[in-house]
Amino acid sequence: MTIRYKCRHCETEIGQLPLDSIDEHFLKKNDITHEEKDLYIELGNEGEYTVQCICEECQSSLQKFPNYYALKKWIQ
Ligand SMILES: [Zn+2]
Repeated sequence: MTIRYKCRHCETEIGQLPLDSIDEHFLKKNDITHEEKDLYIELGNEGEYTVQCICEECQSSLQKFPNYYALKKWIQ
């Protein structure tokens, strides 16, 4: 079983990791609370997990144009 990392802004698949490599250590390191874990980690139909995160491209756009993303979020 694997965990897929997908950008929640542009839906680009960032990468995959074996599920075994995800543990509480990892989650703590990334400052994900249990509530956030429910929001960002989705269990798919085939038992695979998808982690909604942000790719480097969107991350840099976000830093350059924070208002654009705030606006987009507002519209949705
Ligand atoms: Zn992206």
